[in-house]
Amino acid sequence: MTNSLPPLRIGLGYDSHRLGNQGPLRIGGIDLPADVHSIGHSDADVLLHAITDALLGAVAEPDIGQLFPDNAAENRNRDSAEFLHEALVRIRHHGMAIVNLDCVILAERPKMAPHLVAMRETIAGLLDLAVDQVGIKAKTGEGVGSIGSANAIAARAVVLLHRASG
Ligand code: MG
Repeated sequence: MTNSLPPLRIGLGYDSHRLGNQGPLRIGGIDLPADVHSIGHSDADVLLHAITDALLGAVAEPDIGQLFPDNAAENRNRDSAEFLHEALVRIRHHGMAIVNLDCVILAERPKMAPHLVAMRETIAGLLDLAVDQVGIKAKTGEGVGSIGSANAIAARAVVLLHRASG
């Protein structure tokens, strides 16, 4: 990575999934009680996918879809924590470490607020961070569009990295 630049990198991640009837809803590494679930090839954890892409993007690595194709048998029902771990390994390989990350979940239901601390704790554990390095907030779709009608869920994440070594 170019040494004449400040020792910082920023990454942006986005993901969305269709929702199906019946829960639980896997998001942020935990299973929430819900009347919907996220549909995908892996465990369809939209938040961990967005964070994984933010980390990978910050060091210009291939994105989650390139590293873990959704037509590969080994990725079926796979725990997205494994994708996130691979992204962490890759940023460390670049000599970088996480300053903080911030996320937005876009979902009509269930209510995310009661579960945000548990998600922050889970993600901090997966990334070897303090809980106050992980921000998560949630917005509804105000009843509008595919998110507002609970046909889809989405998440955005930004991450800031600093050079830890090298
Ligand atoms: Mg995804």
